[in-house]
Amino acid sequence: MSTNHTVYYELRDALAGEGCAICGLALRGLRRYMEGLAYEAVNNIAIRAELRAARGFCAPHGLMLREVRSALGTAIIHRDIVGAAMGALESSGGGSGGGLLGRLMGGQPRGGGALAPQAGCPACAQRRKTEEVYLGTLAARIADAELRQSFDASAGLCLPHLRAALGRCGPAAFGQLKAAQLGVWGRLAGELDEFIRKCDHQFAHEEIGAEATSWSRASLLISGHPLLGLAHDEV
Ligand SMILES: [Zn+2]
Ligand SMILES: [Zn+2]
Repeated sequence: MSTNHTVYYELRDALAGEGCAICGLALRGLRRYMEGLAYEAVNNIAIRAELRAARGFCAPHGLMLREVRSALGTAIIHRDIVGAAMGALESSGGGSGGGLLGRLMGGQPRGGGALAPQAGCPACAQRRKTEEVYLGTLAARIADAELRQSFDASAGLCLPHLRAALGRCGPAAFGQLKAAQLGVWGRLAGELDEFIRKCDHQFAHEEIGAEATSWSRASLLISGHPLLGLAHDEV
C-alpha cells in the first residue's frame, strides 16, 4: 500500500482529472486488481475459493473482468463458479422441501437459496479498501490550503463518495468539504441551467461552451461511476 505522502499526492493529482477523484482512484485500483486476477487466475487458489463462495462478481465487476480481455483467466475463474453454482443447484430442494419444516429436516431453503452468495463480491471489498485510504486522507487534509485549492478547481465528489467523505470528517474538515462541494455544485447547476436554456429553439443559435457536456458530467457526479458498483442507497 502507498505511504501517506504518496496517497496525498495521488489524491491531489486525481482532483485535477475528470470527474470524481475517488471514483477515478477506485477505478484505477480495481482495474489493477482485475488485471492481476485475470493473469494469475490459475495460481490464485484463495481468490478463486472466495469467488466460488460469492457466486461470482457483482454485475459491474463481472463487466470489468471482461474488459481486461483475458479470455483464459476469465474462463478459469468462471469454470470454478459455474461448478459451484451447479453443486448449489443440485443440492437445492423444491416444492414442500422448503420452508421451516424443510430447513429443520436439514434441507436447503426453497427457491434456490443455496445459489445465494455466501460471501460479498471480492472486487467490491477491494474497492471499499481503496476508497477508505483516499477518503481518510481527504477528510484529514481538506483544510490544507493546497488540497482545498485543488478541490475547488475539481469536478467535486460524486454523491456516494461525498456522503462517505463527510462521514469521516471532523467539524472543521466537514465545514471545508461542505463549502468546497457547494461551490462545485453551484457551478454545475449554472452550467445545467445554461445548457437547458440553449436547448430552447429561441436561443439555439447561441454558441455552446463547456456547458455542452454538463448533462453527462452531472449524471456521473450524482450516481458515481457505473463500473464501481456503488450502492445508491448505502447509508
Ligand atoms: Zn465518486
Ligand atoms: Zn462488486
